[in-house]
Amino acid sequence: MNQHSRSQAIPFIDVVVQRARLGVRIDAAMSRVLDHCQFINGPEVTELEADLAAFSGAKHVVACASGTDALLMVLMAKGIGRGDAVLCPSFTFCATGEAVALTGATPVFVDVEEGTFNMDVASLTRGIATARQLGLKPRAVIPVDLFGQAADHDAIAAVAEAEGLFVLDDAAQGFGASYKGRRLGTFGLATATSFFPAKPLGCFGDGGAILTDDAALAEILRSIRVHGQGSDKYDNVRLGLTARLDTLQAAILIEKLKIFEDEIAARDRVATRYANGLGNVVTVPRLATGRTSVWAQYTIRLPEGTDRDGFAAALRAQGVPTAIYYPKSLHQQTAYRDFPSADGGLAVSERLSTDVISLPMHAYLDEATQDRIIEAVRGAVST
Ligand SMILES: *Cc1c(COP(=O)(O)O)cnc(C)c1O
Repeated sequence: MNQHSRSQAIPFIDVVVQRARLGVRIDAAMSRVLDHCQFINGPEVTELEADLAAFSGAKHVVACASGTDALLMVLMAKGIGRGDAVLCPSFTFCATGEAVALTGATPVFVDVEEGTFNMDVASLTRGIATARQLGLKPRAVIPVDLFGQAADHDAIAAVAEAEGLFVLDDAAQGFGASYKGRRLGTFGLATATSFFPAKPLGCFGDGGAILTDDAALAEILRSIRVHGQGSDKYDNVRLGLTARLDTLQAAILIEKLKIFEDEIAARDRVATRYANGLGNVVTVPRLATGRTSVWAQYTIRLPEGTDRDGFAAALRAQGVPTAIYYPKSLHQQTAYRDFPSADGGLAVSERLSTDVISLPMHAYLDEATQDRIIEAVRGAVST
């Protein structure tokens, strides 16, 4: 490795290399849209929906404007609102709880598992009881496939079924991962995903999609996507949103989806090398049996007593960026702290917020750069 590359700052997520790999194909796809000028609901949107259905195994895909809209639209379609409780993990990106609160329903926060960062089913059961004690009607559960790893979908489905809740999977980070050999997109009533640029499958702006096997739900979602439109444009049968995916973004995603499988494999190789290089100095993420991850984040836990800010600064000094997902769990944030938490508390979420830190992760992280990161982490932990 030469001096130049050693001193160069490493990007946390590299969208530039992928852009170079796909450049002409994406340029051509965008030109086609610029030629036909159907910027809203152009043919590429329908084509992408079909491609995503084929990729995931879901029967219906409704593309939309963001991952947050994807979550919100399903809750709206199911009539979730005031007096309803929706169970979701506290250790997640805010949009999971935000979509619930926007409907007027109450998010009830549930703890996560130490090993996988995903919803703890025992805490889910307690949370449902907590909701009932508060006079709320538990209607739905939103498991999150955090950092790219599938949640425990069978265990969550069993609780949901016993309690009469529907499952809305938040796969904004996990789309492309699988659970017991089945791709996300087919668990629960519906799956929401995001195409924000930093997600494993990202576009060049905002975007999202809902995947479901329920034809009637898909139809309602298509209506909500356009202001609750009925049989024609000026017949509005329900409240909706402006939640369409731009044709340009769909055209970009069609090209990106073609290399997604290959990129998932590359991310997995990076994760394996990190685990081998770091497993004896920090707590590296572990995959539960039967689950895969698309490694939206590679999140490690620092040994007890480590000064996390000092650790991040030591890495930064060597050109290695880090990020903290998430420094506060939702129940610890101003906008969410008045919502209830599952009985028994959220100790794991609280602990994780203090000791996690994420390392650069993308499909184009070369071995030399990765070794530099591993070396920097090992050095920073031991000082
Ligand atoms: C990114 C993300 C969302 C929201 O997606 P947007 O497209 O940014 O609206 C929802 N849930 C999780 C877990 C996310 O990481």
